[in-house]
Amino acid sequence: MTKIRLTKIFEFEAAHALYNYDGLCRNIHGHSYKLAVTVIGKQNTEPNSPKLGMVMDFGILKNIVKEKIVDKFDHSILLNKKENINSFKNENPMFNRIHVFDFQPTAENMILHFVEIIKKLLPENIKLHSLKLHETASSYAEWYADDQI
Ligand SMILES: [Zn+2]
Repeated sequence: MTKIRLTKIFEFEAAHALYNYDGLCRNIHGHSYKLAVTVIGKQNTEPNSPKLGMVMDFGILKNIVKEKIVDKFDHSILLNKKENINSFKNENPMFNRIHVFDFQPTAENMILHFVEIIKKLLPENIKLHSLKLHETASSYAEWYADDQI
């Protein structure tokens, strides 16, 4: 049966800094991230199913990405663990939402992180097809399952 791709687009605001980078991105700065999540699968053909005709309920995809990515990373700071966080992290609540990673928080690494999060939570019959992560209107990273083989 024919496979169909579904895409849902999410947006969140976050700051990051690239550890040891040889340019302006060494400094904490913000991005309006836009994340397009594309899944692929076959339509539900069970006549009495409330999901008849759907590959996946957009609402389920929305809940996964909203809860695990958007709500977690929106209005937060994304940093490499090599940064000396203790030098500025204190009781001030403006530092409450810092995420420290084992990797440099580039668009490339963030998209790989998001792939791992989303993959685990998709229903069995649905495959993650691709992700597209915009840092700016003109700069984005893409991940395609088919590229990984
Ligand atoms: Zn940046």
